Amino acid sequence: MPYTYDDQNIFAKILRGEIPNDTVLETDHALAFRDITPQAPHHVLVIPKGPYVSFDHLAKEGSDAEIAGWTRAVGQVCQMLGVSVDSGDGYRLICNSGAHGVQEVPHLHAHILGGRHMGRMISKS
Ligand code: AMP
Repeated sequence: MPYTYDDQNIFAKILRGEIPNDTVLETDHALAFRDITPQAPHHVLVIPKGPYVSFDHLAKEGSDAEIAGWTRAVGQVCQMLGVSVDSGDGYRLICNSGAHGVQEVPHLHAHILGGRHMGRMISKS
């Protein structure tokens, strides 16, 4: 089954400027903004500007420039937040994907969570 992208999802609306956001970084291929319901002192979402539903969608159909641009933006935001491994205390990077990944917004986004110890990765609930 092909990937289907819903251009009415809330992150598509943010990209079109229809909904405000708290921007941290904007590049040619990515937008990073603060999560509206932060789960940690630092909680930033990094999205590609292209219409990709999930990580696997970008990896399969994105151009090298889009993949590199989004990946670089994630790393740049880690540096900006002061959580990178070279100069900070680290972070958790999450891409919830699809039904079993409990993805709520169907536009690829990486959660960068930091500023506190994040605990063990997965609970069984
Ligand atoms: P996920 O479950 O991985 O799809 O997470 C979606 C995330 O988007 C949640 O952490 C929400 O708090 C966040 N979110 C939803 N709407 C907005 C918005 N308008 N601005 C910033 N973050 C949002």
